[in-house]
Amino acid sequence: MARIGQGSDVHRLSPGRELRLGGITVPFERGLDGHSDGDVLLHAVANALLGAVGEGDIGLHFPDSDERWRGVDSAAIVDAAMARVRRRALEVVNLDATVVAEAPRLAPHRRAMQERIAALLGVAAERVNVKFRTAERLGEIGRGEAIGAEAAVLLDEAGGR
Ligand code: MG
Repeated sequence: MARIGQGSDVHRLSPGRELRLGGITVPFERGLDGHSDGDVLLHAVANALLGAVGEGDIGLHFPDSDERWRGVDSAAIVDAAMARVRRRALEVVNLDATVVAEAPRLAPHRRAMQERIAALLGVAAERVNVKFRTAERLGEIGRGEAIGAEAAVLLDEAGGR
């Protein structure tokens, strides 16, 4: 049986942090706050995976109160979510994501993000799509105080497609 999942997240931008987004480092004067490396896109991806298998969210499995996850590369969080997908003999059919950011310009990094996320999901890069939009200068994201991300994923039985 195919299963669909969605995830979303938002993180505050702060000076003195490396900007990690989609599993890569993006040159910028600020980075995303967070207990982990703050990678809001990978958090949305992990939430979509957990949603698709009906196993809650990353706050449940990787709580901010747990020192094991302090400063961790969020790839480890996606890996852990993928382990739950594989345990159910499921695999990713495709993933579609959107990053909402006023700055920096992210389009030049699209391919690297898609390839990195695909590697984490164990699929070919053409099964992953990453889109970018601004918030039209509205709200926290529009003022450049935060970056948000949304992701939708479809899973199906492993070996089925
Ligand atoms: Mg998060």
